[in-house]
Amino acid sequence: MEPQMLGRRVEVLDKGWVELADIMPHPATGVSGDMAIVNAARVSFLGESKGEQADKKLLFYLLRHAHTSPFEMVEFKFRVRAPLITWWQWVRHRTFHFQSVNAQSGRYTPFEEDDFYVPSVWRKQAKSNKQASEGEIEGEVNEAFLQQLVAHYEQSHKLYANALENGVSKEMARLFLPGFSVYYTWVIKVDAHNLMGWLKLRMASDAQYEIRVYADAIYEHFFKPALPWTAEAFETYILNPQP
Ligand SMILES: Cc1cc2nc3c(=O)[nH]c(=O)nc-3n(C[C@H](O)[C@H](O)[C@H](O)COP(=O)(O)OP(=O)(O)OC[C@H]3O[C@@H](n4cnc5c(N)ncnc54)[C@H](O)[C@@H]3O)c2cc1C
Repeated sequence: MEPQMLGRRVEVLDKGWVELADIMPHPATGVSGDMAIVNAARVSFLGESKGEQADKKLLFYLLRHAHTSPFEMVEFKFRVRAPLITWWQWVRHRTFHFQSVNAQSGRYTPFEEDDFYVPSVWRKQAKSNKQASEGEIEGEVNEAFLQQLVAHYEQSHKLYANALENGVSKEMARLFLPGFSVYYTWVIKVDAHNLMGWLKLRMASDAQYEIRVYADAIYEHFFKPALPWTAEAFETYILNPQP
């Protein structure tokens, strides 16, 4: 992994982003993430690297046979800015929880006027799947709904700011804000095994767009460059398994 990947920020949605805050093994150690996995597996029989071809073959063997604990030897720490609609689904993944989350506090930091998610298009309700969307609302109707949404945010924020000015606490004034749309920043840490579980579910076509774009960004910009062998094995055995 290139050391300059640390601290890299990738833009997601209209105002969100994902930043790689830290990774283990740190690039300064000179040990790649893939080799940290291989080395962890080889400790089972106190072995060492047997050359690139054999090492990569071992890593593929591990993932194919669900020997997952060596993949937990690699950890990612991300800083994420995403609307609550994304955050709400993300924190359902307990393995992210267990491995640490620290979130911005709306009791401490006041929300700004533009801290709200504005989509570029309204998606239509899917016909066959009650949970999903398909296709887009087009033209003037789409524009009209977007304008209504922005006007709604402005009005909500005015009520919020007015409550603050009149002495209402931040923890209560936020009741005026549209909950699902507000952007939050958090720091989250996860190992490569559980990150693959999350990526599988949240990169899937049935995942909501507002979380899928975060999963795609993490996979393309951070996971793949940090763990190229693991990404190849993940695509082969987990994303596109052959019967
Ligand atoms: C498309 C989609 C639609 C969804 N719709 C809904 C919905 O309508 N309503 C809803 O409530 N949720 C919904 N979810 C959330 C879903 O039910 C899971 O809670 C979420 O995806 C986390 O998955 P997970 O349990 O595998 O992940 P994690 O919580 O990260 O767990 C990973 C794995 O660790 C193990 N594990 C973790 N904790 C425990 C434990 N306490 N005991 C035993 N094993 C454990 C399990 O093997 C688990 O698969 C949806 C998810 C997706 C992807």
